[in-house]
Amino acid sequence: MKTNLLSPQKDPMGAAIADYFHKGRAAKLRVFSSQFEEDEIPAEQLFRTFDEMPPLEQEALRLASGKILDCGAGSGCHALALQDMGKEVEAIDISPLSVEIMQKRGIRQAYQINLFDENYLQKFDTILMLMNGSGIIGKLENMGAFFTKMKQLLNPGGCIYMDSSDLRYLFEDEDGSFLVDLAAGYYGEIDFRMQYKQIKGEPFDWLYVDFQTLSYYAAENGFKAELVQEGEHYDYLACLKMQ
Ligand code: SAH
Repeated sequence: MKTNLLSPQKDPMGAAIADYFHKGRAAKLRVFSSQFEEDEIPAEQLFRTFDEMPPLEQEALRLASGKILDCGAGSGCHALALQDMGKEVEAIDISPLSVEIMQKRGIRQAYQINLFDENYLQKFDTILMLMNGSGIIGKLENMGAFFTKMKQLLNPGGCIYMDSSDLRYLFEDEDGSFLVDLAAGYYGEIDFRMQYKQIKGEPFDWLYVDFQTLSYYAAENGFKAELVQEGEHYDYLACLKMQ
């Protein structure tokens, strides 16, 4: 697993978050992928309040209990909402600029840490991975390393709330047949690269995983996946518990 942190010179999303925080607006955060057309993430979306969040995220925040880890926290929208609910949360992100903004926004425990850093060994009752949080796993081949890390971080009885999407709709024909090239690997493994103004990030792997595949890997690694809620478009919230 990669355990690197970003540098401010290669942190496009963090730069967009910093601009939006300081100026109330940001330029285009551009997203490139070899598999898709160019896209963009509106910075205001990264600052969504509880009321502006999709129902799956709201449900995850309601269910989160005990000592909570917001993993890949970005601008800290979930961590802030949890603090407002009186819950205890620690937020981590590899982005130095995002962590600085989280601290400025009043998140009491916000740290620049890579989830897979072997020295990161706290204990949590709830781990949140939201906004296609499975992405941080990168590729299916990292599932083993991911669950090993989760075992280290979770208290007994603890739970991971993770949202993701089944990307099969991108490969489905109008008649419902599935046009996926099986030799090409799992269809939810996507490569991304971001750019904000002149700041270019390194390419990274981002995993979208359907619930069945997630359940299979969970079981292989001593976890049980429960489907908490389904969204409107092939998206869902899962709860992963140690067996
Ligand atoms: N959860 C936030 C941000 C989602 S974007 C929201 O819903 O708005 C994903 C975030 O994960 C980015 O801020 C990225 O820097 C962070 N990230 C990616 N890999 C990570 C890792 N291995 N450890 C910690 N954070 C990571």
